[in-house]
Amino acid sequence: MGSLFESLLLRLASAEGVRPKLNTGNRVAQVVDCPPSMAARILDGKALAAAVRASVKETVARLAARGVRPGLAVILAGDNPASAVYVRNKARACEETGVRSEVHRYGADVTERALLDRIAALNADPGVHGILVQLPLPGRINARRVLEAVAPAKDIDGFHFENLGALVAGQSKLVPCTPAGVMRLIEHAGVTLAGRHAVVIGRSSIVGKPLALLLLQKDATVTICHSKTMELQKLTREADVLVAAVGRPKLVTAAMVKPGACVIDVGINRLPDGTLAGDVDFDAVKNVAGWITPVPGGVGPMTIALLLENCVRAASI
Ligand code: NDP
Repeated sequence: MGSLFESLLLRLASAEGVRPKLNTGNRVAQVVDCPPSMAARILDGKALAAAVRASVKETVARLAARGVRPGLAVILAGDNPASAVYVRNKARACEETGVRSEVHRYGADVTERALLDRIAALNADPGVHGILVQLPLPGRINARRVLEAVAPAKDIDGFHFENLGALVAGQSKLVPCTPAGVMRLIEHAGVTLAGRHAVVIGRSSIVGKPLALLLLQKDATVTICHSKTMELQKLTREADVLVAAVGRPKLVTAAMVKPGACVIDVGINRLPDGTLAGDVDFDAVKNVAGWITPVPGGVGPMTIALLLENCVRAASI
């Protein structure tokens, strides 16, 4: 598939019955001329995640022939209802793909010692290849100390300092699942990253920062924005690839998006009426962007699929 600009120009040209000029020297002027009514192509995370899960299933079958069954252990502490739903979804996805899963549940009054002891036992268990600590942990617990207790080779969330450090050095084995899922979506769209400007809104250690590093590895020019960023719109309007990982519904408006850009919405926000919304004003932005992920059905399913992929990778090493 061609680059984002090429595909956009081709679409523009075919709408107008003219042959496009694929001259990157004046591409910005041409892209800005894009009619605002043109709808973006939807990046279907649900379908792509199903393909990733199918490939995981094949790997599980291959490992079975070697007498290995990948095993995932999840630690769930406290009574956060959203965490309980995420863990249930992860366990279901494991079941579908043949990965064995076990959930270790603790009340909100759990001690850090109890969690550390459990992790030590799971680290030593040869039937457990991946350990996932569901965040957030109850407030009294030092989450970083707990994450650091997970053996790096079983850290399928990629949150251990050793795995984050490897990512910085460009030598990663286990990459955080949400950023990895975002990269897979961009790759699937056929969007060229080399030399393009990628803007990531959000600088958390689990999404924004690792994602910025992955984009950099693909030779994008990366800008990271956060709550103190001045003139956010000026920066986002320059983005060929724009990723929102903030947690604020409709933060990204149509006016913030460069026509033809690839817009990835990581945000998951529960609205007062109970529905889910991303960080991007989907209905407005889809008329400006070239590609866009929906919420739900975009990044969310990819996160779980990439978690399973990391688990079978850990079992294969
Ligand atoms: P964090 O709260 O850890 O980080 C949010 C980031 O957004 C921070 O860097 C913050 O800046 C920045 N921010 C806040 N307000 C603004 C603003 N007005 N303008 C620009 N930047 C702002 O969140 P996470 O990274 O953990 O998650 C982000 C979103 O992604 C959430 O909605 C979460 O639910 C969702 N999520 C979705 C996943 C999925 O699978 N789809 C997985 C993980 C998360 P500062 O650092 O200055 O405070």
